Amino acid sequence: MSETPIVVKDPAGSRDNEIRPFAIEGMDVRGRAVRLGTVVDQILKAHDYPEPVAKILGELLTLTAMLGSMLKFNGIVTIQTKSGGPVPMMVADYELKEDGVGRLRGYADINAETMAQYGKNPSFHGLIGSKNGYLALTIDQGEDMDRYQGIVELKGETLSEVARNYFQNSEQTPTEIRLRCDHDPVTNYWRAGGIMVQHLARGETGQERILERNTAEEWNRASVLMHSVKTEELLDPQLTLDQLLYRLYNEDGVRVFDSVALVHACRCSRERLITVISQFSDDDIDHMTVDGKISVHCQFCNSTYDFTPEEAHAAHAAAAEGVPEETSDETSDKN
Ligand SMILES: [Zn+2]
Repeated sequence: MSETPIVVKDPAGSRDNEIRPFAIEGMDVRGRAVRLGTVVDQILKAHDYPEPVAKILGELLTLTAMLGSMLKFNGIVTIQTKSGGPVPMMVADYELKEDGVGRLRGYADINAETMAQYGKNPSFHGLIGSKNGYLALTIDQGEDMDRYQGIVELKGETLSEVARNYFQNSEQTPTEIRLRCDHDPVTNYWRAGGIMVQHLARGETGQERILERNTAEEWNRASVLMHSVKTEELLDPQLTLDQLLYRLYNEDGVRVFDSVALVHACRCSRERLITVISQFSDDDIDHMTVDGKISVHCQFCNSTYDFTPEEAHAAHAAAAEGVPEETSDETSDKN
């Protein structure tokens, strides 16, 4: 057996962890292709999810990156599923910062008891979609800006179907999506990939309105070609997204736009968490103290932060006085 490195590095020249926007020449069709390597591997390996749950979370991360990259401004896109099934909640979020790099993170909540009842190969519906399950898409543009939220029922046999329904119903935009997450057969690392095409409203691409043009036919062609992609092709590390797009659309001509790089990054930090703790009362802080410390767990990245009761009380006192947190937080590890 070959040795597995503890930290998975992207191979030199790797084109993983990118989102590639594209348009098909002469058609009112645009799309996104996404490929995740180390990013999805790190996120999924930080937890010990049952295989079927990990695969859906990998697809959710792919979908979130895809939709997040469609924003025209810096912000956070969150996609969350809720249901009464064995996976009561699953969430992924994507944040684009000024450096133009997309940050991705996510986790799943699992009810181990009900999970056991579903056997080895539970369906998507059984895990996620049952009992009034829904998927919510939230777009956050930061403080003082409107928050957008769209919701769709978790009806369908795959996450791709749910996402497709979301676009058809909420956005009235004809959309086809394929998502996939699985182990690399050679390295056993997690990989994920996805592709989507959308039919734009007439004229949105800046073209003249050509009323006679048969857009139904071109849309049909673009989606049939997209669905001809093999699941292995979505994940294959030897096949870049550009090669994949060329394979699918070379007869029509495909134009690719600047890609967005993706990294796995969590937004948790000691500073952020002590601010949360500072909002609790002194009594609450005492109740939260176990074995002389207050432990706060970040479900996204599975890290635990420990605070002393003194730190917590001092932060609370500072917050109550309205003193900026930084000046009181002398014990924090920043320097
Ligand atoms: Zn975290």
